[in-house]
Amino acid sequence: MDSQGRVLIVDDEASVVRALTRALRHEGFAIEEAASAEAALEFIESLGTGTLDVVLSDIHMPGRSGVQLLEAMRRRDPDLPVILMTAVPAIDTAVKAVEHGALRYLTKPVELPALVEALTYAVRLRKMAGLKREAAALLGRESTDLDARNALDASLTRAFDAVWMAYQPIASLDRRCVYAYEALVRSREPSLSNPLALIDAATRLGRLNDLGRVVRRAVGTLALEHQGPELFFINLHPNDLLDPDLYRIDSPLGLCAPRVVLEVTERMSLEGIPDLKNRVSSLRRMGFRLAVDDLGAGYAGLSSLAWIEPEVLKLDMSLVRDIHTEATKQRLAGSMLKLARDMGILAVAEGVETAAERDMLASLGADLIQGYLVARPSPTLDTPRWDTA
Ligand code: C2E
Ligand code: MG
Ligand code: MG
Repeated sequence: MDSQGRVLIVDDEASVVRALTRALRHEGFAIEEAASAEAALEFIESLGTGTLDVVLSDIHMPGRSGVQLLEAMRRRDPDLPVILMTAVPAIDTAVKAVEHGALRYLTKPVELPALVEALTYAVRLRKMAGLKREAAALLGRESTDLDARNALDASLTRAFDAVWMAYQPIASLDRRCVYAYEALVRSREPSLSNPLALIDAATRLGRLNDLGRVVRRAVGTLALEHQGPELFFINLHPNDLLDPDLYRIDSPLGLCAPRVVLEVTERMSLEGIPDLKNRVSSLRRMGFRLAVDDLGAGYAGLSSLAWIEPEVLKLDMSLVRDIHTEATKQRLAGSMLKLARDMGILAVAEGVETAAERDMLASLGADLIQGYLVARPSPTLDTPRWDTA
């Protein structure tokens, strides 16, 4: 049978300990004994926390008193109940006992029913304390999640306010001119300066549409001001295709749609977008052109090529990297470039870093290149130094 609770009796009078032990065992309590405060502390130390329910201690003992034991115990285990007993009640010890959080202060000789009642109450309190700690841990964790979410939300709001766009030239290989600039989102908010971190945060907080709008307004505004022949490439998240704002002809981006190419990445599935074909047609009617981005890195489902029927294809940089030394990449990229040409699709090779990669891509039939070799993304619409490109 489960005990009524585990009680440590601390008293220097052996006869008292014996009598209490016998009576309380009879009442169903499990009893431990200590003849002094020091012995009691040693015993508690050896137990670790949590296996004792209540301490029942005499106040007047040689060495440390019951009140000093209580004080030492409080530092060790703040919710272990302590009941103090004394044959000589005195106001000052009673006050100290209460100060240190004694649960009860009983006068000897203690009546058994009162003692049992006090111990039972103490054991229940002990159980409740354990439950409260558990709940605090649980609720504490929840509130930390909430705090983290609120903090992320605040960072994201700051990040949206501090968005700026970097522009990277897409250069034509043969005529050595800038064909277009790809707009890449950045933020001055330090915790979300990277576009992927920004997109991830916006995804988690359900604010992708807000991000898409901020980006499109920034690019649209610049494109309206910029009167050059260059096109602007802008990255769409699949979610952007669901936002009515994208289809507004009076938005800054809508107003310059014929000079804008919308990139849809192969890295994310388009299967969840209802009416995809109609949406794409609407965008085309507005004057936008479409590109499939990250070809070769992509999602292994139905190719977005079939859905989008793009005007432009962007070969992912994983295919481009070291292409001059890797025969498999040459074969794959070569076939893709040839197919693109046959289908009347313009091909951009992304992430070109070296002249050797560029030359190989040129020989395989790429039309356009983008990469650090030509220029890094920059806040201004830079013209590359062709001698290094
Ligand atoms: P992406 O659209 O494929 O963009 C090309 C990424 O390659 C850019 O990274 C660019 O800075 C980087 N890059 C360009 N040339 C080189 C090169 O020679 N070497 C190397 N190692 N990297 C090069 P970034 O700007 O960090 O963007 C990462 C991705 O984040 C983009 O990949 C795009 O998928 C997404 N992204 C960026 N801006 C936006 C945006 O405004 N909206 C959405 N939805 N996604 C965006
Ligand atoms: Mg892109
Ligand atoms: Mg890409």
